[in-house]
Parts: sequence; C-alpha cells; structure tokens
Amino acid sequence: MSSLEDLPLRPDLVGQKPYGAPQLAVPVQLNVNENTFGIPESVALDIVKELAAEVMSLNRYPDREFVELRSLFAKYLGFNLSSENLWAANGSNEVLTQVFQAFGGPQTLALSFGPTYSMYPNIARLTLTPYRELPREAEFELSPGYVANAISEAKPGLVILCNPNNPTGTPISLEVIRAAYDSFEGILVVDEAYAEFNDGESAISLLPGRPRLLVSRTMSKAFAFAGARVGYLAADGAVVDALRLVRLPYHLSALTQAAARAALGHADRMLENVERIKVQRDRIIERTRDLGLQPYRSSANFVLVAGFNDPEAVFDGLLSAGVIVRNVGIPGTLRITAGTEAETTKLLRELEPLLG
Ligand SMILES: *Cc1c(COP(=O)(O)O)cnc(C)c1O
Repeated sequence: MSSLEDLPLRPDLVGQKPYGAPQLAVPVQLNVNENTFGIPESVALDIVKELAAEVMSLNRYPDREFVELRSLFAKYLGFNLSSENLWAANGSNEVLTQVFQAFGGPQTLALSFGPTYSMYPNIARLTLTPYRELPREAEFELSPGYVANAISEAKPGLVILCNPNNPTGTPISLEVIRAAYDSFEGILVVDEAYAEFNDGESAISLLPGRPRLLVSRTMSKAFAFAGARVGYLAADGAVVDALRLVRLPYHLSALTQAAARAALGHADRMLENVERIKVQRDRIIERTRDLGLQPYRSSANFVLVAGFNDPEAVFDGLLSAGVIVRNVGIPGTLRITAGTEAETTKLLRELEPLLG
C-alpha cells in the first residue's frame, strides 16, 4: 500500500486527520452522548416489519422527496408545520453540510461561538466556507447583547448557534436567537440536537415570519436512533427548495426512510427514557460538585465537568475501569454523557478514587 502523501490530494486536505471520537468496546460508553437505554423490543419488531416491507422493492430508487417521512416529522414537531417545512438527511451532520453547501461557500463567512460542536469547522472546511469562532461569555453563556454586537462586527453570512451547546451543555434563550436574527441579513442555523432534554422553548416557535431561520434536529440523541443516521430540519419552504439544489439524488435510502417512519410512529416509547436521563444528568452535576469538581449547568444529556488537575489521567483511569467519557480538549475538563442509573453509579464510583 502506498501512503496518503503519494496521492495528488486536494491541497486543503493535506495533513488533515479524519474526524471522530474513539470507538472502543467498553462496557460503559458515556463518550458520544447516545441514549444508552436502547430501543424497546416491541418498537424494534415494528421497525423490522417496516424494513421487511421495503426489501422486495429495493430494485427501485426510493422516494427522492421522502414526503411521508417529512409529514411525520412535521406532525412530531407540531407548531403547525407541514411537510414543505421539513427536510431530512443521513444524520444532522449531513443536513448541516447541505446547509453550508447551499448557503456557505468561499464568499460567505460562517460564525459560531466556541467552544461549540467540533463538526462546524469541519463542515465549513469541506464546503470551502471561511469559519470563525468567537468566544462565549463567562461560564460559556451567551446573552442577546453580546451575540448581536459580535454579529454586527463580524458581518457573517451564516451564523450557527448550538442550543443546548455541545460540549458545554449551556442552553440559550429565545431572546438570544431573536437578537441574532435581527443583527444580520444572512442565514441563522439553530442546532437543536439535544432539544428533547431541554426544558426551554424550541426556536421552532420563532419560524413564522423568519424565512432565514433554520432549526436542525436529530434522531441520534434523545430518540435513541444514532445508528440509523437520521437528522432533520425545520424552516421556511424556500429553504427546503435551496437544500434540494445540493442534495444528491435519493440520498435517503428506502431502508432509512422506513426505519425512521416506524420509529416516529412510536415517538412516545422511543423518548420514554428522556426524563430518567435528565435525573442522571442532574445526579452527575450534584455528585461531581460534592467531590470538589466544577460541573457547568446543562440542559442536554451530558455534563461538562471542570476542576480536574489531570483530565487525561482520569480519562485513562476510567477507561481501565470500563468507563469511557470524552476529553474534548477544554483544559481541566471532561464531558460525561448521562446514561442509565446503573451506568451513572458505576461512573461516579470509579471517578472518586481517581481524584487523588
Ligand atoms: C450529535 C450532534 C449532532 C449530530 O449528529 P447526527 O448523528 O449526525 O445527527 C449535531 N449537532 C450536535 C451539536 C451534536 O452534538
């Protein structure tokens, strides 16, 4: 085998590393914010039934417009949305890539507030979009005045706000989103990957009268469907028309559409563990604070905990004990996903002796 250096690679990819958290076979996996409860068996059987019904017609291309699935997403979200307001792709990472393909590009500055989701700069790079990350305020919070000023000064064409923010867990208020929208003429994306864990209101309520506002969601987190790769977006119908210009034809397979339809048909059951996960999240906050650490407030299914003298040593110690968390590179911190009660108990028990 020859090496990457021997190939005439696109110049801007030279020296880049593939993105992704380590995938290790560890008993307690609290590193990528999955719903660790898994899928109820009765729902799984229904998904299999829907998949089976598709298999005989896999010789045909799938519905390119996946209208039925978009209607189901509209119904799930409420807010008087209809299928014209909905779009979907293979994970919200693909949805966001399509958004950058349609609205970004070399002439358009994309702006976000960091630390935030590490895929944003990657997606910007892949779509040749210049990207800038301005710092968040104290405790990783964002206020309307700060965001409005930053946008007015930076003059971006695309702004992406993560609510609640990954990796900090911080929620933002609808006032921040209104202020951001009113501060420029470009596209405002609110990434609500963790919306179901957030007690605050969704930016979807702000869509009427705001054609440049896009709200992205995913089935990967609360919905316990990360392996199926389904993300979606709610926006004005014209935005959906723009995304049609950049999507590859038939990008959502018939099997993906069928699985997502079946899962959405059981939304209540798929989401039944959200409250339990929130209890474990709050337990992680309380207990790590008792241990002398500094957890940040979180409206998601994970907690960013600061105050580790040696986060790498704690990460390694937990890993040896069969628990994987995430070192996101913020000094002195680790990010911990809230799992089941038993997983959280194991995590907290293994954590204590590692604090020295
Ligand atoms: C996990 C995550 C996503 C996307 O995940 P998909 O699995 O691609 O849907 C998007 N945004 C944020 C902030 C996330 O944490």
